[in-house]
Amino acid sequence: MRRPIVAGNWKMNGSLSSVRELLAGVKNGAAGLESIQIAVFPPFVYLAEVERLLTGTAIVWGAQNVSERAPGAFTGEVAAPMLLDFHCTYALVGHSERRTLYGETSAIVAQKFAAARKAGLTPMLCVGETLEERERGATESVVIEQLGAVLDLESIQGLDGAVIAYEPVWAIGTGRTATPEQAQEVHAFIRGQLARQDAKIAQDIRILYGGSVKGSNAVELFAMPDIDGGLIGGASLQVEEFLTIARAAAL
Ligand code: PEP
Repeated sequence: MRRPIVAGNWKMNGSLSSVRELLAGVKNGAAGLESIQIAVFPPFVYLAEVERLLTGTAIVWGAQNVSERAPGAFTGEVAAPMLLDFHCTYALVGHSERRTLYGETSAIVAQKFAAARKAGLTPMLCVGETLEERERGATESVVIEQLGAVLDLESIQGLDGAVIAYEPVWAIGTGRTATPEQAQEVHAFIRGQLARQDAKIAQDIRILYGGSVKGSNAVELFAMPDIDGGLIGGASLQVEEFLTIARAAAL
């Protein structure tokens, strides 16, 4: 049995006071949801406060990005070992906003994945196609390329214990969600690709769906056999909406 994860990617949102308010609500509502794992991904500057507020709870946290490099003269970057100082569980790598807006190639994403793992963090690798790629039937080849960069660098063993988030770019922040069948098809494809190299790792890996997940569509998405929870953007900033999604994963 794979334990579902519901992870909130706060992106570049929040303030000290909104972080406190949001987490107070999530902490309250998370009681009784221990069958799933709840995670939050705040901006770097709020990690210390998130750690202070969540230590001793079952909720875990992570960073939205991590440098592929070891500590050194890299202005503006945050190295993986620094995230351990704040007891991060996860580091998100390859979010489509990083790939498209900040030019992160699959090779760089793979290096970030490796740096996170080497430091003892669990990488959460985002993959997914654009609308144009889907429409020309390239979804599978895009996912193979994005996954392949990590497999080439880290081998299938590198995926052991990691988390994958399938996030079709056309569904992120657009209000347009993949249908449960569309998402399931890609999730099963990803698991199948991994199974060609290691059946157990493929069976055990959590594959989250991300892209306009809301309280109103979470139940049907999470009911799919290869969808192991969600990576939630916009809706993770609203306590009740996020908790409704978390409850859907716990059904
Ligand atoms: C995301 O940022 O990973 C995401 C899925 O965003 P949203 O839920 O807002 O589409």
